[in-house]
Parts: sequence; structure tokens; C-alpha cells
Amino acid sequence: MESCIFCKIINGEIPSYKIYEDEHVFVILDMNPVTAGHFLVLPKKHFEMPESTDDEIISKMIIIAKRIAKNIKRILNSDGFNITTNSGEAAGQTISHTHFHVVQRFKNDNLKLWPPNENEKNKIKETYKKIISNI
Ligand code: 5GP
Ligand code: ZN
Repeated sequence: MESCIFCKIINGEIPSYKIYEDEHVFVILDMNPVTAGHFLVLPKKHFEMPESTDDEIISKMIIIAKRIAKNIKRILNSDGFNITTNSGEAAGQTISHTHFHVVQRFKNDNLKLWPPNENEKNKIKETYKKIISNI
């Protein structure tokens, strides 16, 4: 993909703070970190979305995400980490090349993710019925 920023980073056309590379996976620090130790796990091959990424490749990505997250937790002495992925614009995906975010967390980082929504709570049963009759 000629216009893809992450493909350009992987090809070395755009510089990055690379922390790991193997045959299939490439890991860099995010240029706009949420906390210290925010890194991105990318497949070397271009896939647009998590759900269109080969099972074999995304499995390798999550194993590397876990290993490096654990290692960086030790190095930065963080208190935990989040591993997330954004699929689609509505979910916050800005770069159409699959990636996992790994964000190291600190007890005092004041980051609040996933605020619960009372309206959605009232719809659990309806949502469940819809899912279970179509899955
Ligand atoms: P998304 O919003 O698609 O889930 O995440 C894209 C991430 O890529 C963002 O956190 C953004 O800061 C990061 N990013 C965008 N462009 C670059 C770049 O050129 N280099 C690096 N290292 N990260 C980038
Ligand atoms: Zn790409």
C-alpha cells in the first residue's frame, strides 16, 4: 500500500522508534503517546482492519503484544497495561493498517476508559436476544 503511513514506517521510508521486528510483526512507539510506554504492534503485511487480518498473523501480533507489554511493564515499572485495537472510524481507527495499541498504565495516570452508560444497561436483554438469535 503506497500511501499507508505504517507501510512506509515498516519499509523504512518514515523514521520510527522501532522496538521489535520479526518476519511478520513490527513494533514501534506511538508518536502521540497516551502514557509513557505506548507502543503499536503492526503486521508487516498490509491489512486494513483487525477483522480482515489473517488469523495466523493476528495471533502472532497478540503474542508479541503480550510479551513486550510484560517486558516494558518491568522496564518502566508501570502498574498495568491496556491492549486495544480500533476497527473502523466510529471506533477511532485513523490509520487503515491493523494495529494493537499497548498503553502502560500508572496508578495516578487519571485515564478513564469505557465509562458505563445507564441507557445501554437497560438494553442488555434486548441486545442479548438479538445476538443469540443471529449468531
Ligand atoms: P488509531 O487511531 O488508528 O487506532 O491509531 C493510530 C495511532 O498511530 C495513533 O495513536 C497515532 O498517534 C499513531 N501514529 C500516527 N502516525 C504515526 C507516525 O507517523 N508514527 C508513529 N510512531 N505513530 C503514528
Ligand atoms: Zn499499510
